[in-house]
Amino acid sequence: MDFTSQMLEWYEHNKRDLPWRRIRDPYLIWVSEIILQQTRIDQGLPYYQRFITAFPDIRSLATADEKDIMKIWQGLGYYSRAVNMHKASLIIMNDFNGQFPGSYEAIRGLPGIGDYTAAAIASIAFHLPFPVVDGNVIRFFSRHFGVKEPVNSAKAKQIIREIATGLIDHQHPGSFNQAIMEYGARTCIPGIPMCDSCCFEQSCFAYSHNSVGLLPVKNKKVRQRTRYFNYLVITSDNENAWIMRKRVAQDIWKGLYDFPLIETAKLLSLKSLKATRDWSLIEKMNPGPLIRCSGQFRHILTHQVIVARFFRISVSKVNVVPEGCIQVRDLTKIPVPRLIEKYLQNLV
Ligand code: SF4
Repeated sequence: MDFTSQMLEWYEHNKRDLPWRRIRDPYLIWVSEIILQQTRIDQGLPYYQRFITAFPDIRSLATADEKDIMKIWQGLGYYSRAVNMHKASLIIMNDFNGQFPGSYEAIRGLPGIGDYTAAAIASIAFHLPFPVVDGNVIRFFSRHFGVKEPVNSAKAKQIIREIATGLIDHQHPGSFNQAIMEYGARTCIPGIPMCDSCCFEQSCFAYSHNSVGLLPVKNKKVRQRTRYFNYLVITSDNENAWIMRKRVAQDIWKGLYDFPLIETAKLLSLKSLKATRDWSLIEKMNPGPLIRCSGQFRHILTHQVIVARFFRISVSKVNVVPEGCIQVRDLTKIPVPRLIEKYLQNLV
């Protein structure tokens, strides 16, 4: 039996255990793929459920307030993906009459939809033969077909995409794609794969060349940059209003809200902070003495480590809101990064 038939046979036997693989609606596939591509299934499924409950179709997503979308997304990371989903839903409403486009090119042209997501939607919802190449497929194929290019390189992705394009079943492209992703996730797993129960043992390059532990090859990790955030947690005297700032620059957490921030080359004491130019942010608000300075918070992102400290200060003129900031009474209503959420949970 050839690779493609074997893959489809495996899928037929196992698909009843994969409920999320039974989704056929392009909107729901889109939501699930965007959410699940950045997190483990058990962590991502509650987000998926909350998202489709709040926004069950394209129209409800397109007409939603961006702040409400970000609130549902809060904690998932990669916030630009939520912003792009909102933009894409507006395009679908305006340019495609509210119907998800049915060609690969049109799907790929929507904001935030790359090769992988476009192929998943096109193959599963519209039966078009475009292969998916996600991390699971890359690992599985690099072992099975002996791809020795570093898997975090564009070249390896290209090689694997060409192999998959040659193998994809044109009658059942969606089943084939779901099969190769699931096989990588369940059998040809990271670390020590389950070769003893693998139905491709006979044809697998890595297994027959005794190189299962050597593939996939990876380039060295990109070094993480450390950043130092001195947050000014400004509240009114009676602490029923907080000053928050929407992050709008091309930086982490775009679209979420955090506190006024002074970023420095290292963490500063309050005395040194007062000597910075940015301190003028709160001078007009007539700040009182420091209420509390937090300990250090260390927050790790893919390419950055954020070391943060929070200075809690009350002001008597909370109506004088600094530029780019808003006054918030209920902090639970606005979307914040996980770091801010952790700080607020520790607040006494
Ligand atoms: S034999 Fe092992 S390494 Fe090869 S495809 Fe199967 S699980 Fe992966």
